[in-house]
Amino acid sequence: MTNVNFDAERLAGVLKDAGAILDKAVALAGADASGRPESCKPAGDLAGLIAQGHEVGILKRRDTLGDDITGLQELITYGLKGVAAYAYHAAILGQEDDAVYDYINNALDLLTNPSPTVDMLLSCALKCGEINLRTMELLDAGNTGAYGDQEPTVVRVTPIRGKCIVVSGHDLKDLEELLKQTEGKGINVYTHGEMLTANAYPGLKKYSHLVGNYGSAWQEQGKEFADFPGAILMTTNCIQKPKGYIDRIFTSGPTAWPGVKHIADHNYAPVIEAALAAPGFAEDAEEKTITIGFARSAVLGVADKVIAAVKSGAIKHFFLIGGCDGAKAGRNYYTELAQSVPQDSVILTLACGKYRFNKLEFGDIGGIPRLLDVGQCNDAYSAVQIAVALAGAFECGVNDLPLTMILSWYEQKAVAILLTLLHLGIQGIKLGPSLPAFITPAALNILVDITDTEEKAREFIKKHDVQYPVIWDSTQSKVAEEFKILSTPTIIIYDGRGKRVYSGADPPHALDAHIAKALGRQDAQTTDKPGPATPELTHSALLEITIIGDIEDPAFLALSRAAESFDDANKEIVLLDVEDHADRILETPYRPLDVPALFACLVDVACARPITDPDSVETTLRRFIMKFSDAQQGALEPSGGALEPVR
Ligand code: SF4
Repeated sequence: MTNVNFDAERLAGVLKDAGAILDKAVALAGADASGRPESCKPAGDLAGLIAQGHEVGILKRRDTLGDDITGLQELITYGLKGVAAYAYHAAILGQEDDAVYDYINNALDLLTNPSPTVDMLLSCALKCGEINLRTMELLDAGNTGAYGDQEPTVVRVTPIRGKCIVVSGHDLKDLEELLKQTEGKGINVYTHGEMLTANAYPGLKKYSHLVGNYGSAWQEQGKEFADFPGAILMTTNCIQKPKGYIDRIFTSGPTAWPGVKHIADHNYAPVIEAALAAPGFAEDAEEKTITIGFARSAVLGVADKVIAAVKSGAIKHFFLIGGCDGAKAGRNYYTELAQSVPQDSVILTLACGKYRFNKLEFGDIGGIPRLLDVGQCNDAYSAVQIAVALAGAFECGVNDLPLTMILSWYEQKAVAILLTLLHLGIQGIKLGPSLPAFITPAALNILVDITDTEEKAREFIKKHDVQYPVIWDSTQSKVAEEFKILSTPTIIIYDGRGKRVYSGADPPHALDAHIAKALGRQDAQTTDKPGPATPELTHSALLEITIIGDIEDPAFLALSRAAESFDDANKEIVLLDVEDHADRILETPYRPLDVPALFACLVDVACARPITDPDSVETTLRRFIMKFSDAQQGALEPSGGALEPVR
C-alpha cells in the first residue's frame, strides 16, 4: 500500500516473509520449485531487493511494453493496493471472502505476464472494481457489525483542556483498543483526518473521552501534529515525515516510518506514557462543531423526506464531492465548487477531500442538511447504496438521477473506488484535480468508452424507437472473427435451421431482392452483387437477421431500418453493437444472457405472435446465445416503455 510503510527495513522483512510463504506454498503444492526464476526469490539484502525492484519497475516496463500497457498495469496495481487496504481492515474485524484473495492472486499473476494484452488488463481492472465493491461491503459489515450504524452526530472540532492523544488513519479497531486502554486515565482522545467518522459510530462515541476531531486532512499533519501537545497514533495511510515530534508519534498496523516506534500488538502503553508526559491543552478553545454521520442507514432512514423534497422540487440536485485530498495546487477548486453549489442542491461528501469545505455553513432544505458527510473513503459503499436506493425510489437508473459526481484522487483507495464506479457502469464521473499519470490518453479513452456504451445503446433505442434487442459492447475483433466478417456495418441472415443465407453490407434497397431470392420467390428482382449460394428455405422458417456495426454509424441504422422494412413477418432482428476496444470484463459474466427472458423478448417483440415451432426458435436462440456468450455482453430489451437490462 502506498503512503503507509516508509521503513525500508520493515518492507524488506515483509518481502522475506512473502518469500517464505511462497516456498511453503510451492512445497504444499508439491510443485517442482527448481524452475522458479531467481527474480521470484527475494534477494537477501536491501540493495538486492532494490535491484530486483528496478527489474520489474515502471521505467523498465515502459521501455519494453510501452505506456498504454504499463499504464493499465499500474491502474491494476493501484486498484489492487486499494482492495488490499480495505481487505486488511475488514479482516481485522473478522470479515473475509476467499473470492477477494483469489482475485488478488490472479491479478498479481497477470502482472507477471511478460506480454499482456489490453483486453486482459482492462477486464482485470474492471474486475478489480467488482472485487473492491465486495471488499467495501465486507468492511462496511465489519464496521457496522462491531460499532453499529453511523448516526448523525455533532462533533466538536476545537480542543478542550487536558492531556491528549490524536489518532489518524482509517482503522477503527485500533481506535477502539486505545479508547479502552485510556479510559479513566484523564486523557482526551481526538480523531484526525479520516478518523473523524469514528465519532458517528455508537460503539465508539460511547467513550466520553473521545472528545472530538483535531485538525483536517492528512497533508496538513506536519504543522498540525507539531502543534499538538500530546501523543500521535498513525493507524494507516497517509503518513508524512515527522518534523519535530518523532518522539511522540507512533505507528500501528501496516504503517511504519524509520525511527518511529511501532505498536504491533495493540498495547498502547507507550502512547499513553507519551501523552501523560506531554503538556496537553492548557485550556478549552472556543467551541466549534460540525455534523457528520450520514451514511446509508441515516440517509435511507429519512429517504421518504428526501424523496418528497426531490419530488416537490425543494431539492433539485445532488453533488457527490469527495475523495482523497492532497497538497497539490488547484485543490481549492473543491472548496469553490462546494460554495457555488445552488441553494436547492445537496452535497454528499466522503473521504478526506471533505476537509476542503466541511467546516463551512451550508444550512438545510426543509430540515435536510445541505452537507451530508457519508464517512470515510471506504464509505463510498454507503454512497453507492444511497444512490441505488434513490434510483429505485424514482424508478430510474443511477445515471438518470439528478446526481453529479466530482471526485478527487490521490492514492490507491481512490483508484479502487473509481474502478468500482466504472464496474457499476456509472457515467459522467468528473475526476481530478488531474488524472493519474499512469492513465494514458489511450487507456482513458477505453475507460471513458466503456462507461458510456450502455448509455449510447439506450439513447439509440429511444432516439430511433428500436423495437428489438440491441446487444452492446462486443469487441469488433471478436465479432469479426466469430461471424467471419471483414467490415462493419454488415447484415447477416440465417434461416430457421441456422444456415447463413446472406451476409454483406448491401445498401438497404437491395435487401428485399436477395431475401426473396433466398426464399425462392420467383418475382423478386435481384442485384448483381455476389452473395453466398442460398439453400432452399421453407416459408415457415424463422429468419434471424443480425446487423453488426457501431450504433453511432448512420449506415448501421440504415441497415436496421432496411431489415425492419423487409415484409416477411417471420423474422427476428438483433442489433450487435461493436466497439473496437477490449471486451468489457472478459472473465466475469457481467450480465449473462438470460435465455427465457430473451426468448420471451424475441417472441413478443419481433414476431408479435407466438411461434408455433419453439424447437426451431429455441435452436436459433441457443445458437444465437452461443455465438455471443463468450463476448460477455449485456442485452437491453424494451418492455412497457421502460428499458430494462436483461438480467
Ligand atoms: S481518503 Fe485517501 S488521501 Fe485521504 S487519508 Fe484516506 S487514503 Fe489518504
